[in-house]
Amino acid sequence: MAVVKADAYGHGLLRVARALDAVDGFAVLELEAAIQLREAGFSQLILLLEGFFSIEEIEAINHYRLSTVIHCHEQLSMLLAHKKTGKPDIFLKINTGMNRLGFRPEEGNSVLNRLRQWHTDISITLMTHFACADDLLEADHVDQQLGSFARLEEKREGCIPRTLANSAAILRYPGTHADWVRPGIILYGASPLPDKTGIELGLQPVMTLTSRIIAVQHLDFSDRLGYGGQFVADQPMRVGVVAAGYADGYPRHAPTGTPVLVNGRRTRLIGRVSMDMLTVDLSGINEAGAGSLVTLWGEGLPVEEVARSAQTISYELLAALSPRVQTVSSIP
Ligand SMILES: *Cc1c(COP(=O)(O)O)cnc(C)c1O
Repeated sequence: MAVVKADAYGHGLLRVARALDAVDGFAVLELEAAIQLREAGFSQLILLLEGFFSIEEIEAINHYRLSTVIHCHEQLSMLLAHKKTGKPDIFLKINTGMNRLGFRPEEGNSVLNRLRQWHTDISITLMTHFACADDLLEADHVDQQLGSFARLEEKREGCIPRTLANSAAILRYPGTHADWVRPGIILYGASPLPDKTGIELGLQPVMTLTSRIIAVQHLDFSDRLGYGGQFVADQPMRVGVVAAGYADGYPRHAPTGTPVLVNGRRTRLIGRVSMDMLTVDLSGINEAGAGSLVTLWGEGLPVEEVARSAQTISYELLAALSPRVQTVSSIP
């Protein structure tokens, strides 16, 4: 099941769905995104990861033959009060230790029974989500979560399909793969693991964020640069002004020193990132000038490196790409 929430992690929902047409399912957050996929002709399972929030949404789920998570008693009551139509496809979310969404494992069986009493032709998959699958030092936590999940299943006669693994668990814990895996970040070529980049895992970046230098400035010794004048030249230097800023999704808190490629050569961000522009050090890149290609992340510059420098994770950078950024895609 390909996780394509947040506009496919900033890559464009329909574009990514077309590229991944061979998957057995898609997982999204918003009902609108699910409907968009269905209306675009995708016939696979489409799962709403947080389920529904109103009766109207239950009706839309029926109408568009969507699958839904149920994670709380409010949703359960709403569903059980609803007329029985179609063949509901429910992913029953169990909270095994993340403590975000889900029923307690000891409630699992009674919820299952109530669902089955409500509708005999219902399909149910058990689902849980790991809190620490990216960290090998937290293997105990993963084991604990697996243990609570297994205890719930032991009490059932007959087997119920299960889904547990996100990207990190897919890579680190093959024992968690079960019936459906739910990869997100690895589909986009980035790493879910804090100690490895996508490239190091044999993945290829799907998104490359590029722009161009639109002006060049010459700083003298002690000249200050940009808002707040925080960067101070310690020698005469050339600075490239790049047409990309936080309104494009480049992180404003990326500090001086964050890696950037100019004409494919590695240099550094200097000064504060502003809304529409950022500035880079052109020392030693003499041929660079107005019009030179700048790579902010992607091919040649792992997004994980930029994320680390900005004290965040690749997920946040990719998902925050702004709609104003023009897309050039090898997929129609
Ligand atoms: C986002 C999400 C995933 C995918 O996570 P990645 O770390 O990107 O693989 C899987 N399952 C659920 C429930 C999610 O919300």
